[in-house]
Amino acid sequence: MQSSLFKSLIVSLVVAFGLQGEASSRQNPDILTNILAEAGPGKVVLFDLDDTLIDCQPRTYNIIEAFLNLPETHTTYPDLVEKVKSQLKVENVGFSKPSTALWALGVRKTDNRTTAFLNAVDAYWLSQLQADFSFIHFDAANPGAVEYVNKIHNKGATVIYFTGRSQQKSEAGTRISLAKLGFPLDDRAFPTLKDDNGNFSSDADYKAKIAPTLEHYGKIIAFFDNEPANDLAVRASLPDISVVFLNTNSSGADMDQLVSNPTILWLNNFIAPEGKIK
Ligand SMILES: [Mg+2]
Repeated sequence: MQSSLFKSLIVSLVVAFGLQGEASSRQNPDILTNILAEAGPGKVVLFDLDDTLIDCQPRTYNIIEAFLNLPETHTTYPDLVEKVKSQLKVENVGFSKPSTALWALGVRKTDNRTTAFLNAVDAYWLSQLQADFSFIHFDAANPGAVEYVNKIHNKGATVIYFTGRSQQKSEAGTRISLAKLGFPLDDRAFPTLKDDNGNFSSDADYKAKIAPTLEHYGKIIAFFDNEPANDLAVRASLPDISVVFLNTNSSGADMDQLVSNPTILWLNNFIAPEGKIK
């Protein structure tokens, strides 16, 4: 367990540092402008939510804090509560489950008690992550995302928030969160969430199977997602659209295939070079 966590952390660090050089060589400053120029009535743009349009770190941070404030956590792990509270910052939470963020603080599965603490905070996070109306309202928009999606929408294109969030657990909370952040929500802008009963083996499987069915709304011109596996899957199912990898936080899975696929575009964020987007 410990070695697999260590391995995944090292992979993440390698991916994070390796991507900076890769992103600068793959980044095309005209991506946002080109897709916006093509957007219009009858066209569709697909945006992933978590770690694409949305910064999930405030949600995860607040879930960790709520766990630390549980009476039983205080009673059982007062020293660990104090350590995490004094050191954890929102911007250092990064991707995925709390135990990964806490590893960097030196809270690691080196003994049974700390292992139990980390397993408990991960379990609490998993139980709260997608629950409607609990922590979704802590979501923040990634830089430039609200402005860019509104520009696409204002040109008359259909915007679909194409997310692996659970339709059953998260749809109502997701709609409220998107509206609060200023993302358009109407009959030309709406979330499409993963049906828990849909028998999908993964988010990539869900997106590959559902993306072509969204042509019902018009001609799909672009798909934005921070997960390499999702980008590769949609690339395969919709070979003629622009697929854009968002170089924010990701699991790093399938990164090698993404790097070696020249048809997938790269972006660091939705802030275009000044004056580029009209
Ligand atoms: Mg995502």
